[in-house]
Amino acid sequence: MQNGDDITDEVGTQSAHSGPTVGVVGAGLSGLSATHSLASMEADVRTFEAAGRPGGVVRSTTIDDTVLEHGPQRLRLSAPLKSLVEELDLTEELRFGHEDQPLYAFYKGSLRPMPLSIRHAITTDLLSWRGKARILAEPLTESARPDETVHEYLARKFGTEAATRFMGPLYSGLYGTDPDEMYVEYSLGRALDHMGIEGSILLTVAKRLLEGIDTPPIVTFERGVKTLPDAMYDANADRIALDTAVTGIEQDGERFRIVSEAGTHTVDSVVLTTPAPTAADLLAGIDEPAADVLARFNYNPIGVVHLESDFDGEGHGFHVIDDGYVTNGSTWNHSMLDRDGIYTSYVGSGDETVLDAPDAEIGRRAAAEFEEITGTSAEVLSVNVIRPGMPAYDRSWSALDNLSLPDGITICSSYTSRAGVIGRIVDGRRTAKQVVSKSAGRH
Ligand SMILES: Cc1cc2nc3c(=O)[nH]c(=O)nc-3n(C[C@H](O)[C@H](O)[C@H](O)COP(=O)(O)OP(=O)(O)OC[C@H]3O[C@@H](n4cnc5c(N)ncnc54)[C@H](O)[C@@H]3O)c2cc1C
Repeated sequence: MQNGDDITDEVGTQSAHSGPTVGVVGAGLSGLSATHSLASMEADVRTFEAAGRPGGVVRSTTIDDTVLEHGPQRLRLSAPLKSLVEELDLTEELRFGHEDQPLYAFYKGSLRPMPLSIRHAITTDLLSWRGKARILAEPLTESARPDETVHEYLARKFGTEAATRFMGPLYSGLYGTDPDEMYVEYSLGRALDHMGIEGSILLTVAKRLLEGIDTPPIVTFERGVKTLPDAMYDANADRIALDTAVTGIEQDGERFRIVSEAGTHTVDSVVLTTPAPTAADLLAGIDEPAADVLARFNYNPIGVVHLESDFDGEGHGFHVIDDGYVTNGSTWNHSMLDRDGIYTSYVGSGDETVLDAPDAEIGRRAAAEFEEITGTSAEVLSVNVIRPGMPAYDRSWSALDNLSLPDGITICSSYTSRAGVIGRIVDGRRTAKQVVSKSAGRH
């Protein structure tokens, strides 16, 4: 469905489906996963997407036959992704990345390997011997405490050196939030819960290594990460209206009217997958307290700058630890994914106002810092600022404790659950099951 021209209906329209009628707002990975799962459960699902393409922040373009990723650069082929790839018949399109390359920290003016493998843990000069030894004391430390920040947690578990030079930036880098402002409960804690880690992180990782449980491989697709949302869209195209921004949601007895420029669509349940500020606007007409809570979540905009360079360092990229740079880090697509000459810098760290500058200025600064850090010149290929950007997972996330939604409205988004691609796929499936079972209970 290319637009919403044919979505207008009347309350009580007869449906050929055995399940509930559901409206999904947004066709990024969360919305696509929810749509795909709801359809497989016989729900009568219609999905509304403001943009002219599916995928949300997942966007891949091509320049001279080389793929540029404007959102996620690569995925981990864990079980939920693998089953989806097989179901959508995408296995042949998978492209595997190089696992064994280092990730660097730019610290005190040099690129230094982060201690992510035993070899680099021994050889890196990012940490002093005392700092390395302190990491080994982690099993003696206690689990996360209520109200602890990510920095406090990591420093208590692994020592201040590892927390500030390596683990804090590694975890919080992409979100653009200072680890001192992030709360374990709303951020890292979710990942630890998901991995089943309650006590020692080191002992859990060691046990998994001994049991032969490997980290899933790094993958992308021949034509980029967008292959995944495109295939999910194609499988559900007759249920998804592109170019159809939802402008409001109205209560209609126990049901809801989804309002867009294309008309009104009445459903039993609504799944909201847009970032929190949009969800707040849409809910304002039917539940003001819930809308007020959603409006409180902070996001950090992020600039994505693609560079072309002859730099031939081997690695996954770097995180910037030194102060005074607008670059948070860089992914070396050239080396990790064999995308020749392509490097992706993330900009916005420390000084968010840099993202208000014209694209040319953002690109110029990113290229200059890349040249300084790698010692090799770089040419700007593209600049893209993503707004509202990444969930900040900062103090504003405590608003979640006060979030209560009207019966029939569900949120499936990174501000209530895990942010990554896999988290979105799993959350979409879980949401679909919840919506179908709750709806069965209501009727
Ligand atoms: C730069 C960047 C790099 C990342 N890297 C990684 C990574 O390496 N690994 C990883 O696992 N994850 C990564 N992520 C995170 C992951 O990509 C996202 O969490 C995930 O794609 C978000 O999907 P979503 O559907 O929840 O949200 P979105 O992608 O934001 O989708 C929301 C959709 O709602 C639509 N919408 C908004 N308003 C309306 C409206 N009024 N009506 C209808 N539709 C509307 C939007 O157009 C959009 O399509 C990255 C994210 C970014 C931004």
